[in-house]
Amino acid sequence: MIVPRLRHIAIIGGGFSGTMTAVNLARLSESPLRITLINHCYPSGRGIAYGTRRPEHLLNVAARNMSAMPDHPNHFVEWLRTRTEFAALSDTELRETFMPRRVYGDYLRSLAHHYARPVDRHARVQIEFRDDEVADIKPEADGARLILASGHNLDADKVILATGNEPPADLPGNDTVANHPGWCANPWLDWESKLPPAGETIVLLGTGLTTVDAIITLLALDWRGTLHAVSRHGLLPQSHFKGTEDPLFPPADVDLASLGLEALADLVETHCERLRAQGANPAMIVDKLRPHTQRIWQTFTDAERREFITRYAARWNVIRHRIAPSIHRQVMTAVDEGRLQISRASIAGVKPLGAKIGIDLRARDGTTSTLEAALAINCTGPHTRFSATRSQLLQNLLASGLAQPDSMNMGVRVESDFTVVERGGHRSSFLLAIGPLLRGTLWESIAVPELRGQSLRVAQTLLDELPAAAARWTDPAEKAVMEYWI
Ligand SMILES: Cc1cc2nc3c(=O)[nH]c(=O)nc-3n(C[C@H](O)[C@H](O)[C@H](O)COP(=O)(O)OP(=O)(O)OC[C@H]3O[C@@H](n4cnc5c(N)ncnc54)[C@H](O)[C@@H]3O)c2cc1C
Repeated sequence: MIVPRLRHIAIIGGGFSGTMTAVNLARLSESPLRITLINHCYPSGRGIAYGTRRPEHLLNVAARNMSAMPDHPNHFVEWLRTRTEFAALSDTELRETFMPRRVYGDYLRSLAHHYARPVDRHARVQIEFRDDEVADIKPEADGARLILASGHNLDADKVILATGNEPPADLPGNDTVANHPGWCANPWLDWESKLPPAGETIVLLGTGLTTVDAIITLLALDWRGTLHAVSRHGLLPQSHFKGTEDPLFPPADVDLASLGLEALADLVETHCERLRAQGANPAMIVDKLRPHTQRIWQTFTDAERREFITRYAARWNVIRHRIAPSIHRQVMTAVDEGRLQISRASIAGVKPLGAKIGIDLRARDGTTSTLEAALAINCTGPHTRFSATRSQLLQNLLASGLAQPDSMNMGVRVESDFTVVERGGHRSSFLLAIGPLLRGTLWESIAVPELRGQSLRVAQTLLDELPAAAARWTDPAEKAVMEYWI
């Protein structure tokens, strides 16, 4: 009897998306399976967001909506109950708490650990973590070969791209400051070691969530100096609030996804006005749109998507990506006390100025100025022009035609079951993608409430496909073993 090869799934990326895909495969598979999760750069099992070690970095979603498993909505809150430090909180308080992100990282790690080191030696599925960078993928007769930066290769039947967020795009003049001690190109890697002495100036380029992280850390470190944050719109993220229900939006007789951008924008504006007139927070409308966002985005034409990005995305982002009230209070207090200055201007470029970094700004009225910083941190948000990706792996996939950009060039083109579409328009026989790589296809594809559903669905898709592989086994004895396994 020939012993069949164990099915092997390789997952590239060990952030939330990759880790939870591995966990879902392990918990749902009824047959033996080998899973290898390859990750580099950020902590494995945590990724960028939950790899932070800073206790002041909080989740921007309350605990009640942070279960990693869509089929167990209370899972995160129940897991928190295993920790003594939250014992004093009532169930209601616990559910409404914005937990430290590193605690959420512990949650993900503990889920992964459970399957990576199963205590049950009869476990059907085991997960192996590998610290390496996948540099390329080559198709094979029955799957693919992963080429690792370490020089090793790895053969797999199926491969999942869960490579997550890329560091911010380069700014004009980036090359001139790349090795400057006062420049930080990646805000998610250590910049605290570059902290200038008190009395100096730090400039944060961007005013979004990453900037808020940096501000909160500087306040926690009690760094005393001048702190600037600059962006084109100068808008800081808003705070979460306890809203009252608004039964009038969305109107029962309207299919939001079939309206088109212009009519939808008018409808939203009308309802925002109504709420403002009632003294209620219009941000509620964005929350009510959230369950419909992916469907709306998919029915927009590319012209409407581009129009949305140009006209509405900045405002959408500050309302949609809200922050914990305690974090918002700290940021606003820093503004009120003059410790933090917000500038509204375009960043024309960055340049070395001796020991300092010069940031050239252009205001709306055309006036130009230069800010001098002892430390400048690029917090402009993840790079999203997919064809210009700096990932060697993604560049290689584009060059070989194993993947192509989506129609918005924001990520990789996939079919509705997350199978990657090759340059020729064919479904890949082995490659799937999830997470922020699907931003162009779904728009809302970056936060846990969406990613947990994706990681479950992609696991189910793979498990459904694997039995089909058994049909290819022709030796009857061999097939019997496969049928037992799958
Ligand atoms: C600072 C920050 C805070 C956030 N806070 C929240 C929050 O509170 N709540 C919420 O719902 N969402 C939050 N988000 C959104 C967040 O993007 C998602 O929740 C989620 O963490 C994304 O996970 P991911 O696995 O898709 O990507 P990532 O976390 O980016 O992980 C991808 C991993 O893949 C690795 N990788 C990439 N290419 C390769 C390669 N070729 N070979 C090997 N490894 C590779 C990367 O190095 C990285 O470790 C936050 C995002 C950020 C950036």
